[in-house]
Amino acid sequence: MPVTVKTFQAVGEAASALSSDRGARYLGGGTLVMRDLNEGDVSIVTVIRATDRALQGIDAAGARIRIGAGVTFARVLAERDLGFLHPAARSIGGPAVRNMGTVGGNLFAPAPFGDFTVALLALDGMVSLQGGFGLRDMPLEEFLQSRDRQAGALAVGVSCIRPASTDAFRYRKIARIKPKGGSVITLAAHLPQSGGRVTGARIALGSMAPTAVRAKAAERALEGRPLDAAAISAAAAAAGEGTAPADNSLASAWYRREVVGVHLRRLLSGQES
Ligand SMILES: Cc1cc2nc3c(=O)[nH]c(=O)nc-3n(C[C@H](O)[C@H](O)[C@H](O)COP(=O)(O)OP(=O)(O)OC[C@H]3O[C@@H](n4cnc5c(N)ncnc54)[C@H](O)[C@@H]3O)c2cc1C
Repeated sequence: MPVTVKTFQAVGEAASALSSDRGARYLGGGTLVMRDLNEGDVSIVTVIRATDRALQGIDAAGARIRIGAGVTFARVLAERDLGFLHPAARSIGGPAVRNMGTVGGNLFAPAPFGDFTVALLALDGMVSLQGGFGLRDMPLEEFLQSRDRQAGALAVGVSCIRPASTDAFRYRKIARIKPKGGSVITLAAHLPQSGGRVTGARIALGSMAPTAVRAKAAERALEGRPLDAAAISAAAAAAGEGTAPADNSLASAWYRREVVGVHLRRLLSGQES
């Protein structure tokens, strides 16, 4: 079946084309879309691309940093000001995937993928979406909860907060094959502290549900407490609450539920895995 490729300069035009064609798929770096096409996915009739520079920008100057949806992980890694996101970018695939794969594509990647999005979720991520409704910003958490209904919307970029210190943000991906393997569990934690107590912790988990999710019970267990052994134990015990992991070739749902607390404890304690 022939596939039509349409390239637009402006994101608005690309978004209109995307939202008006049920068989259209946006092409970011293509690491997943091209695989689907090569495997004979006949639901893809049109491939939409946009060359708009708005998709390529990085603004790392302020407390809230912005990254265009078309920015690749290789570019994230080349940006010194985005150092706090380097562990997440580095954990994705091998060099070829990082050279092509984009921040925008990662928002839509199904589990066990979507590692970078886990980091953004812990850092209070927002997504800028262009659709028939115009351009709007949506909290990443809300976007992920309604991702299936976002088909036809074009992600223009993401933003997230810059952690106050290196120690305030922690990221870890548990994989069986290193460095390229899919995620058994991915964890990210933003742990701001005031007066020696955790205030406004955000913990995000990947591969523990169809999309990245927040571990809200674990966050509550840390709130207002020093990051000591007792608080960490309480958070670890609550880590799996509200999650819905799946069985796949990397791990069973049972295994993921069993070990998520162990890995959260290690992350919060600053231990090597
Ligand atoms: C060998 C291999 C290893 C991988 N390893 C990892 C890994 O370790 N961790 C990980 O997270 N991922 C991994 N991936 C998956 C993938 O490479 C990444 O998730 C990547 O970020 C996807 O981005 P992309 O630009 O290539 O997406 P594409 O393939 O271009 O698109 C993926 C989906 O997102 C949609 N999309 C893309 N950009 C936009 C946009 N701006 N607006 C709206 N929709 C959009 C597409 O329509 C499509 O549905 C791997 C893939 C391969 C092939």
